[in-house]
Amino acid sequence: MRSLQLIADRKLELADVPAPPQPGDGEVQIRIKAVALNHLDLWGFRGMAFAKRKLPLVVGAEAAGEIVETSAGVTGFKPGDKVVMYGAMTCGHCAACREGRDNLCENVGGIMGFHIDGFARDLINLPARLVIPVPSGVSLRDAACAPVAFGTTEHMLFDNAKLKPGETILVHAGGSGIGSVAIKMAKALGCTIITTVGDDAKAEKAKALGADHVINYKTERFEGVTRKLTAKKGVDVVFEHVGGEGFNASLLCLKRGGRLVTCGSTAGPSVTINLMQLFQQQYKIFGSFGASIRNIRDSLSKIAAGMSPIIDSEFALADFEKGLARIESRQVFGKVIINF
Ligand SMILES: [Zn+2]
Repeated sequence: MRSLQLIADRKLELADVPAPPQPGDGEVQIRIKAVALNHLDLWGFRGMAFAKRKLPLVVGAEAAGEIVETSAGVTGFKPGDKVVMYGAMTCGHCAACREGRDNLCENVGGIMGFHIDGFARDLINLPARLVIPVPSGVSLRDAACAPVAFGTTEHMLFDNAKLKPGETILVHAGGSGIGSVAIKMAKALGCTIITTVGDDAKAEKAKALGADHVINYKTERFEGVTRKLTAKKGVDVVFEHVGGEGFNASLLCLKRGGRLVTCGSTAGPSVTINLMQLFQQQYKIFGSFGASIRNIRDSLSKIAAGMSPIIDSEFALADFEKGLARIESRQVFGKVIINF
């Protein structure tokens, strides 16, 4: 079977490897049909000095497929069922796992496709507890965007920032995979949405998604425009995943007591924060990473109800690197899908 492996920084190889054995106790075997790309894949591809991992590594952190076979003890799945997979090897028995806070597992074995082997292969055996059924009517291409893009956004907006109907939110990079999902989720809640994009063509697309105001951050300072749009009050929530110099500008966009939730730092991981501003303005800053299995189920329900992901482009497995280049170029609007 095919297996796409990272063999060195920025070097992928499509290998022919033996198929996995029959699924063991509590496991199912899945045929992968679609992998969705995220910025995480780009970090992994470029190489990260602080990430503990061994090469070669099967890439792919977010995917959907079909059940091929189940082990004797597994109930709830049968061959042919469409499924998505949780993207981290959690333990299933620590307090966090038992309470459904999967992304806080105390014994997590790593992120699939980043620390440990991922989904860019024809077949995989996984514990059934990490497998989530796809509702009928949802394509595997769309379902592939649920575990990371939708799940992460769901966790950020609702578990962490606790976004409420009618609030105002600033969504950074509305054309990115998670940014486009955040616009859709906030719109469905009846929020007022301000978003940033890097060019005017993306501005039109962001408006079509439901953004009320779109700021081209290359030609305007987003913090100034945001304060003007909110009559100097600021927004309730900032959806952040860019970091770098924009982070402090994002804090300036918040109203007193506002919440900033972040899951990324594509523009740089270190910033200096004015603590007096932080406590006087009573800002709440949430770091968010990944999602719970419940978040992924909820995401799939939203997709089934019509909240489809925006698909930027689709590539064959052999062209995985072209998909990564698309994300790296920042021309992307929505999700990049790898088809099997
Ligand atoms: Zn655990």
